[in-house]
Formats: sequence, structure tokens, C-alpha cells
Amino acid sequence: MTSLDGWGTKLRGLVGGRSAGAFERGLGLVTVGDLLRHYPRRYAERGELTAIAGLVDKDHVTVVAEIAKVTTRRMRSKKGSILEVLVTDGTDSLDITFFNQQWRERELKVGRRGLFAGTVSTYRGRRQLAHPQYVVLDDASAENAMNFAGAIIPVYPSCKTVTTWQIQRAVAVVLDAFGEELGELDPLESGDPTIRQQAGVCDLRTAMEGIHRPTTYPQIEQARQRLVFEEALVLQTALVERRLVAQGHRARPRPIQGSDLREAFDSALPFALTDGQREVGAEISADIARDVPMQRLLQGDVGSGKTVVALRAMLDVVADGGQAVLLAPTEVLAAQHAAGIRSLLGPLGQAGTLLEADAPEGVRGTQVVLLTGSARSRERRAALEAIASGQAGLVVGTHALLEETVEFADLGLVVIDEQHRFGVEQRAALARRAPDDNYPHVLVMTATPIPRTVAMTVFGDLDVSTLSHVPAGRADVATHVVNPIAQPAHVDRMWQRAAEEIGAGHRVFFVCPRIDRHDPEQETSSHDADSPASEADTPGTPGTPVSTATVEDVLDEARRRLPDASIAPLHGRMSAEDKDAVMTGLASGEVDLAVSTTVIEVGVDVPAATMMVVFDADRFGISQLHQLRGRIGRGTLPGVCLLVSSAPSGSPARERLDAVAATRDGFELANRDLQIRREGDVLGGSQSGMRSSLRLLRVVEDAETIVQARTLAESLLAEDPSLAGHPALQAAVTALDTEQAEFLDKT
Ligand code: ADP
Ligand code: MG
Repeated sequence: MTSLDGWGTKLRGLVGGRSAGAFERGLGLVTVGDLLRHYPRRYAERGELTAIAGLVDKDHVTVVAEIAKVTTRRMRSKKGSILEVLVTDGTDSLDITFFNQQWRERELKVGRRGLFAGTVSTYRGRRQLAHPQYVVLDDASAENAMNFAGAIIPVYPSCKTVTTWQIQRAVAVVLDAFGEELGELDPLESGDPTIRQQAGVCDLRTAMEGIHRPTTYPQIEQARQRLVFEEALVLQTALVERRLVAQGHRARPRPIQGSDLREAFDSALPFALTDGQREVGAEISADIARDVPMQRLLQGDVGSGKTVVALRAMLDVVADGGQAVLLAPTEVLAAQHAAGIRSLLGPLGQAGTLLEADAPEGVRGTQVVLLTGSARSRERRAALEAIASGQAGLVVGTHALLEETVEFADLGLVVIDEQHRFGVEQRAALARRAPDDNYPHVLVMTATPIPRTVAMTVFGDLDVSTLSHVPAGRADVATHVVNPIAQPAHVDRMWQRAAEEIGAGHRVFFVCPRIDRHDPEQETSSHDADSPASEADTPGTPGTPVSTATVEDVLDEARRRLPDASIAPLHGRMSAEDKDAVMTGLASGEVDLAVSTTVIEVGVDVPAATMMVVFDADRFGISQLHQLRGRIGRGTLPGVCLLVSSAPSGSPARERLDAVAATRDGFELANRDLQIRREGDVLGGSQSGMRSSLRLLRVVEDAETIVQARTLAESLLAEDPSLAGHPALQAAVTALDTEQAEFLDKT
């Protein structure tokens, strides 16, 4: 046989052309590396049968079951016969049918056990697999004896065209042919002592045998430990390298000495900064005073006052003659940031206008420019000129701004607010555009609190600052769950309360999961890892009305129930201008009540908002509800948040809502969230672009391994920055970077 030519060796030629094609189309497995890294999802025991009761209609499944009965029927209408095989797990049974394949009777004998792979369907109220692929386990034929000699049967993620045992056979072919050569590809086998010895894990061949062809459970565990460590190390090495690359760029230092602008700003602030804001401010000042570009994440709960912190840093850059840009995820937020910054700056943000005369003596202000996709071309041109000439010191826009050909006179700081995936795309865009010798400082802000090891895995290339408290004197927000089925009277009380709040001159938000009945999905939010989309797909909990509250319907009802109020819709299908008008109306009081989708989830700041009602609240995740609720109680007025849901008490959905009602502490809720949610959904995946690369590693459970890998990655790169002495590790890191770049491109 040919020798192994690295992980990239094509499967074609090893497993036969037809199989190779199916492997590629069905599962994306092209190379030896792809196949060996396609780990079993679970292990079945030879003696153990799959619980048939747990099978879900339309799922592709692999079932271990015993044949209980075999019958053949003639079909009346057509010519031909049906072979019906009843299989059982000892409790429940499943029908397996084959048309015109009576010869299968010879293999499918009562009392034998088999693996059956197919798509579950329901026929006359009974679950069945029509024409499944199968292997009979007790069959003594040479081929099966080879594959199922052990007591432990790996069950691989499979698909319609590739069964788990085909994967198993292909893996066996590869391991038999190349097992001895695997050592050369082991990313942990370099160094003296080797990385593997330092980490105290088994070698690659042992691990591959243990994960794919185990005979005992401790073998699987040993293999898993080693593979998880390897995954963590490759990931951390990639992140530390990325960090070193960023630190290799030169930034212009922006020392704060003599920043009159910042002092003038601080003394004009209508409130005192919190200790946390000052501390984080000092960390940022120290960062941007260096000639290494800042790469910092600022995490702080909703309402903790991140914008002011960012603005102070932006002013330092302006005072130094540079420019700063603030990127928001939506046009509404960008417009609001621009308005908020202008009002906080007062005359300091009016350079070149008469108002500037009011600025403190000797302090030069700057111009704040808003640049969004919907700006008219004349405005746009003026904005672009102000940015290119350096007249505009502070630029606010949506993230599209980085992709466009906006020329800055001297861009010194980029602040990325509340972005998907912690600004991964934005940072990548910057890396493509910014000159290496004048790279801007970068600050990413998020209100989604993240446990340390998750942070380390998801954006281990950033430093992290945390604002852990909201400013004192913030009003209370009482949160209650309202069940319209169990307590219909509470619904009337809810409308009455809305009327009272509006009567008192306050603002009210009604939030719905959908815009109208045609809206297939809830609007995309900036926290998509959080929205329990998979749960929303499953049929509603008993007692849940099938239809979901829509902006359209709630708007109708609100107009009927609150005839004197000024009510407006707010959602993503409205034009930027219309959304703006509603936001402005809410700020001024022209609009009393907004019926909206989650567009208001991030950042929207209306201090007079005192009441929020979330309809079908069980459609949202914990963190998302917390974000939504953060829109009220932002001023000094106490607020009330009502979570409307008919999820019965004790159901998981209701538990999530109760958790949100029980505390306003975002960090506590994030931890609750992690406990409740399945590990795979934790930020690790969709927010970082790493879903494709996390295989066995679990960011929460494998926390210790992640820390260990981080430390080792740092010391390896400190000694050997190019990893010249660790070529296999470097190759794995390069492969990972490519995979992630491709993943980000696709999404
Ligand atoms: P977030 O961290 O959620 O982005 P913001 O920056 O929007 O929070 O701040 C929320 C509100 O709190 C704003 O109206 C802001 O002006 C106000 N704020 C910020 N810092 C303080 C402070 N130290 N004391 C009182 N209010 C503050
Ligand atoms: Mg904010």
C-alpha cells in the first residue's frame, strides 16, 4: 500500500471511488485527516439495545435492535411483496419494511441482532424504517466478524448515504494501513521533553485506536483526554499566535498627558463616573499610550455604562490629533450613539459651528459624524470629506463602514459595540485594511458576560476588562411571569398598568417574537447563540397556543385597548428613517408605546421607558431576555417587566423565565444559562466562528485542560515564536486558521 502522505492524503484510492464520493458529499470527509477526526458520537454496547421509544420522526438514526418477527405479505394493488421485520428493544418495537426483497429473509432471522440505519417515519400510527441499511451483528461472516469483534460499537455521525459501519470500516482500513506512521504526524510529539510528555497524555496512535476501536471504556477515556488536550493546544496556539501577530503591528501611541479635552468632558458629565469606569478607563489609557495596538474586550452588564468609557478613550485619541470610530450593529443603534455622543459632548462636539464658542477656553472640540448605509448621497459625501480631512474626529457608523472605501486622515481607535462573535469579522476586516505601521487600537464591547475559559477559547487573542457593577442609584425593575391561561385576570391588569404608565408620561415597550404571520423566524438578534431556535422548532409545550405573538396583532390590540396612546411599530423591515423617527419619538415623548421585535434588544437607550411586556417570552433565551429588560429602568424611574408565557410551571421554558425574574445580575444569569443550555450551544460555536473546529473540546467541562493548554502554548511560542521546532503543531494551527477563515466566509 502507498505510504501516508500527511493528513491531506485523499480517501479516494483507499476506500474506493464510490465510497469516497459518498463520504465527501454526505459528510464532507475528503482526506485521511477528515476521516480520523470524525469521531464517534457515542458507543453502543453489543449487549445493549437502542431505546426505540426515544426515536423522533424524520430523524436519521442508527438503531441496535433484536429481530422479533419476520413476515412476508403479497401486495394487492401492485405485483410484488413486502418483507416486514418487527424489531424490538425489549420494551417497544419498530417496523422495518422492504419491498420486493424477500431474499433478505435469509439474513434477517428471528433472535438475531442488527444495526439498522435509516430515517424514521410513521405509517398507520406506527414508527417504521423503510428500506434501512443494516448489518446483522451475530452474522459470523468474515466481514462482520472483523467489524464487530469488540463488545463496544462506535456510532458515528452518519447520513442517508453513509452508514456508521461504512465509516467504521473505512477507519479500520486507514488505521491498519497507516497506524504505525501516525507518530510522524503527531502535533504533540516534538520538543525535548516532548509536548506530549509535558502534558502527560498518550500518543496519537493509541488515541486513534482508543477512540475508533476501543475494547474497554478506560481506553476511550484515555483517548478522549489526549484528543481534547490536542484540540485545546492547537486552538490556544492559534490564538496566541494571532495575538503576537497583532502585537507585531505598530500603533501610534496616544498618551493622555495634557488631554484638556477629556478633562473638559469629565467635568461636564452630568454624573460621577463609577470606580469601575475609572479603573477600566485607566487600563485602556495605558494600552493606547503604547505603540502596540490595543486588543481589548470590555464586558459589562447591560446599563453598566460602557459607552462613556469608550467615549473617553476616543477623546484621548482626538486630543492627540487622531480619529476614533464607533461601530454599532444596526443603523438604529448607530444613530442613537451619534445622538447620545453629541449630547454628552455638548459644545465639545460642535467644532466649526457657532456653538463651539461655548467650549472651555483653550480646548479644541471636534466634529461627530454619522455614516450609515441609508444616508443620502449628498450627506454621505460631506461626511466622507470630513472624515478624509480629519475634521471629523469622532465617526459613528455600522460595521459596513470597515468594508467600504472610507479614507481616514488618521484613524487611531476603533470601538466595536455589541457585535456578533465579538467583532471577529470586524477585526479581520481591519487586519486586511489597516497599515502595519499605523494600526488602530481596538476595543470590543459586549454585554454578554462570559466565563473565563469560554472567553479564553472564543477570543483568546483579546485582553479582557470587566465592568462588574451598574452605576448606583439605578432604579429597580420588578420582573414577573404572566401566564394568560392560568391567570387570565393578570392580562387585564397588564393592559391597565400600561395605560397607567403612559398616563404618567412614561414610555412602554411591547416585544414580540415575530413581525407578522408570514415572518418565518424571529428576527435575527445580535445574540444568536442565545436564542433557543432548536426549541422553537419543536412543537410547543402543552398548553402553549400554536400561534406566536406578532407585532401586527399586538399593535391592533394595543390600539383597541389604549385608544388615547400614541403607538408605533418598530422592527427590522422598516426603513432606517422610519425606525429613527420612532426612536426619536420615544425619546421626546411623541411616541408612548412601541410594539417591536428584538431590534430593541441591544443598546437602545430611552431613560423614560418604565415598562416592558415580552409576549411569548419562552421563545427567547435567558441572556436575550436580560438584554431586552435592560432597555427599561435606565433612568431613575423604577420599571416593571412582564414576561408573558403559557409555559406550564415546572417546564424548562418556565424555569428559564423564573430565573430571569429572580435576578437582574447578568453574570449570575449567564451562569444559570450555561447550566441549563446544552454545552454545544455555549458561545464556543456560532459567536466565534469556531463551531467547525470544536470537535471533542467542551468549553465549560474542559476548563482545566484549556487553561493548561494556554499556558503551554504561551511558553512554546515564547521559546520558539515561529514553531520551527514544532512543525506538526504549526501545520495543525495553519489548518485550523484556514478552516475558520472558510467558515467565516460562508456565514
Ligand atoms: P451599556 O453598558 O449598556 O452600553 P450605556 O453606556 O448605554 O450602557 O449607559 C447606560 C446609561 O447610564 C446611559 O444613559 C449613560 O449615560 C448612563 N451612565 C453611564 N455612566 C453612568 C454613571 N457613572 N452614573 C450614572 N449614569 C451613568
Ligand atoms: Mg451599549
